[in-house]
This record gives sequence, structure tokens and C-alpha cells, in this order.
Amino acid sequence: VSKNQELLEQQERRESNARSYPRRIPIAIDRAEGVFVHDVDGKRYYDCLAGAGTLALGHNHPVAIQAIEQVIRDKRPLHTLDLTTPVKEEFINEVFSSLPEEFAKRAKIQFCGPTGGDAIEAAIKLVKTATGKRSILSFQGGYHGSTQGTMSLSGTLGPKEKVQGLVPDVHFLPYPYAYRCPFGVGGEESHRISSRYIENLLDDPESGVLPPAGMIFEVVQGEGGSIPAPIEWIREMRRITKERGIPLIIDEVQTGIGRTGKLFAFEHADIIPDVIVLSKAIGGSLPLSVVIYDKDLDQWSPGAHIGTFRGNQMAMAAGAATLKFIKENDLASHAGRMGEKLMDSLKELQEDIHEIGDVRGRGLMVGVEIVNPLYQPAPNGSYPANPELASKIQRECFNRGLILEVGGRHSSVVRFLPPLIITEEQMNEVIAIFKAAVRAAVQ
Ligand code: PMP
Repeated sequence: VSKNQELLEQQERRESNARSYPRRIPIAIDRAEGVFVHDVDGKRYYDCLAGAGTLALGHNHPVAIQAIEQVIRDKRPLHTLDLTTPVKEEFINEVFSSLPEEFAKRAKIQFCGPTGGDAIEAAIKLVKTATGKRSILSFQGGYHGSTQGTMSLSGTLGPKEKVQGLVPDVHFLPYPYAYRCPFGVGGEESHRISSRYIENLLDDPESGVLPPAGMIFEVVQGEGGSIPAPIEWIREMRRITKERGIPLIIDEVQTGIGRTGKLFAFEHADIIPDVIVLSKAIGGSLPLSVVIYDKDLDQWSPGAHIGTFRGNQMAMAAGAATLKFIKENDLASHAGRMGEKLMDSLKELQEDIHEIGDVRGRGLMVGVEIVNPLYQPAPNGSYPANPELASKIQRECFNRGLILEVGGRHSSVVRFLPPLIITEEQMNEVIAIFKAAVRAAVQ
């Protein structure tokens, strides 16, 4: 057996039944650089999963590595709880100077610890404390984490069914998912009905929805299947929440730091949220998460959200350097262009492959929804999800040296989340591998 196989089997025997990625991505990674990972037998793969969107600059980018090395060379403390340090000051300066000015001048930051899920927990506690209310408006298909609180906010039922007693008072609203429109209509009409429905619901005292402490959503749903919300809908959500004094929390854990073609995804809609949550790419490949929010919400007490690992100096240094590099090289625009190129090619492929129901995304957050075209379409025009074929396409890609994620509400969306530094030439190769894999899988 290969070294790869041996390691996979050994770890499978001893690891928990809850392990996830190794089940679908049977690689034992030895080394990694840029958009590539190499397995222990020396085979090279394009990594378009990239730590589920974490590795904005790819693996081991010199900018991140140098920042980490500098922290060590300067004998900075590697562990600090959330104590004051110059490295933290530089990180805060870099982040605040990246925000729209109108937001930055009113912004406060809370360091969390250090996962996206923990920062979402903090954001929810923040708005509950500030408003004195307890219910939260969340969206179908949304994903916000795997703790009990964040799971309660996530729309996907699968993992929730087995865990009794999650956090109550979460109201799920229809996300503007054009391909599987919850109102049974497509296109523009879909998101207009969604916002009208939400506005009516909030104004009807008998709707069954308690006065909300906040609304939370992803501007592009990630785990839910790379679904971009239309710009007009995002603006409507801002208007509706603002008019009613409901804090708006934008979960930028996956979309943040350039991935969607803007530094922050909410900027596509030119809105200013009350709260944003950042993790993944903000740590420059190391664990870090923060909540940034309007100072009017800063009504919680000292110690309201604590945690031991809120001060990782290496993550702050790598994160600040990553953010600076992304801005200096305008990698957000590059991500936008590469995403367009990818989507154009995928739409071309969709013309011959009827199993591709939908191609969508924003920037380098792109999804291909795999369907079964032999069945009758639903009243909203979509075909049934085809998770078996999505998984087969993922395997065919893997066999050809391309790592992709499969996600979405029905596990039928093949998702592209490559590092933002991917070159045009590399993107062409990824597209070529994907096309060959799809053709092999549908045969
Ligand atoms: N929010 C979003 C939008 C995410 O994509 C994720 C992770 N996939 C999370 C929150 C949770 O982050 P973590 O896994 O670091 O807890």
C-alpha cells in the first residue's frame, strides 16, 4: 500500500466517528505551497478548498511566514490572553483602516476565541445584551458554526436533529436562493417577494415572531451552497432592520478579506452593518476571530465574552500582513476577475451538461449545483438535487489532482474556494480538470 493509504487507514482507525473532511478527501498532506498541496507519496493537487476559504494567500505565503517569523525573532509573547501588545495595535489599525470610513469611525472590536463559531456566539450575546431582546432572525440555508448556539442559528437540519435542546427563539426566514426559490418563482421576483414577506412579518404583531435582538446572514451563503444574495435584497434587509432598530449582523467569516471581489462582501451593497464577524482569512492561516461593531451596541460588561485564546500574536501579525498584501495588490479585484472567468467557463459547460442545474457565486466563491434532469422540475423550475453525482464529480476531480468541496443544503453543490492568488494560467488548468472530471462522471 502507498504511504498515503497507510496514514489514512491508521488515522481512520483511531479518530472519532465525527471526523469530516478525510472521508471525502483521502489525502495525507505532506507539504503545501501556494495553490498546491502534495501528498506523502509526492502527488500534487490544486487546493480549491483552501481551508474552507481560510487561505486567502494560499499555503505558506512568504508574507504570512515572514510575519510569523518576526514575532518569534522579536521574542513577542506567543500567548497573551487578551492583554495589550503592539502587535495587537498594528492588527487593529490594519483592520480599521480597511473598513469603510463611516463604519471605522464608530467601530469597536472584540477578540474572540479563536474560531468563527465563537465570534458568532459573541455577536449574538452582544446584540441580545444591547437590545434586551432574545429572538434572532436567521436564514434558511445559513451556516454560522458548530457550537450549540451557532448550530441553532444554522438553517441546515442534518446535524441539528441529533442534538436535543438547542437555543430557542431563532426564526428562519427565506434566503433569496434564486434556483430553488422558496416562493416558487424565479429571478428578480424571488428576492422582492422575500423582502416584502420579511417586512410584513416584522410589522404583524400576530406573526408569531418575537421582537428580534438582531438579524444575521451571509451576503453569500457559503456552506449553504455558494449562494449570493442579490444586491437589492441586501439593501432592503438593511433598510428594514434600520427602520425597526434591529441590529444587522453580517457573517463575513467566509466572505471576508477579498474573497467575493470586495474586501468585505457587504461593500457590494454599499451598506454599513451594525456588526460584522471575521475569522478564517483574517488570521493569515492561523486561528483568529473578531467581532467588529457599532459603538452604540457596546453595552455589555467587562468579561461578557471571555476565552483563553483571544490573543494569538502570530495570527494577528500574519493576519495584518495578509490584509495589507491583499490591499496593496488589489487581490479583491483579481478575485472578482478570476471568479468571472471561472463562472463563464462553468456556464459554457452547463450548456452541454444537463446535470448542471445552476452556476452561481461572487468572486472566488463559486458553486455548481448538480441535479437530476430526468425528473420533473419542481414548481420553482429547479430539478431535484443529485448528491451522488456531486460526490462522484468531487472524486473524479480528486483523482485528477483537484481538491474541491461539496456542500449546499442537499450536499449537491460542488464549491470552488481557491486562494485569491490563483493565476489565470492556474485557473485555466483547474477549469480543464473540472470539465474532464464532469464529463467522466456523467458518462
Ligand atoms: N460562519 C460562516 C459563514 C462559516 O463559513 C463558518 C465556517 N465554515 C463559520 C461561521 C464557523 O467558523 P468556525 O468553523 O471557525 O467555527
